[in-house]
Amino acid sequence: MVDVLVPILIVVGAVVGMEGVAWFTHRYVMHGWGWRWHKSHHEPRSGVFEKNDRFAIIFAGIAVVLFAAGDAWSPLWWLAIGVTLYGVLYFLVHDGLVHRRWPFRYAPRNRYLKRLVEAHRLHHAVSGKEGCVSFGFLYARRPEVLRERLKESRRSLRSTA
Ligand SMILES: [Zn+2]
Ligand SMILES: [Zn+2]
Repeated sequence: MVDVLVPILIVVGAVVGMEGVAWFTHRYVMHGWGWRWHKSHHEPRSGVFEKNDRFAIIFAGIAVVLFAAGDAWSPLWWLAIGVTLYGVLYFLVHDGLVHRRWPFRYAPRNRYLKRLVEAHRLHHAVSGKEGCVSFGFLYARRPEVLRERLKESRRSLRSTA
């Protein structure tokens, strides 16, 4: 039993933990000193790729390093699998469902997925670096809460301008 439980806990923990890491990176790095790359994601895309994709490459690199550092089926490997799984989920939700970087249309009916899509659209309601809401990807506040925050941040942006 423990043989199965420990890997499951590591993978689930890694996915949850990575949502925190992604939130933090998005909030403080991408909308901070990493804005030079992330800016491309808040502007209309001109080609297949955008500078912002470099962040995804870095995260993929971290997963590769974890795989390389651990022995087969060691805890480090399960951690690497969790990080990779998060990457896949992130790609499906963010690049797929929200930004439609795939060649077909798919509108989710699921309430949770709809909420994620709406929350991230609200993140993109602001084109600049400041005043954005909703920095997470697999967890999002209720759209009403986000809309309210957006209004507040617009108000304070205006008053500081
Ligand atoms: Zn952003
Ligand atoms: Zn986005």
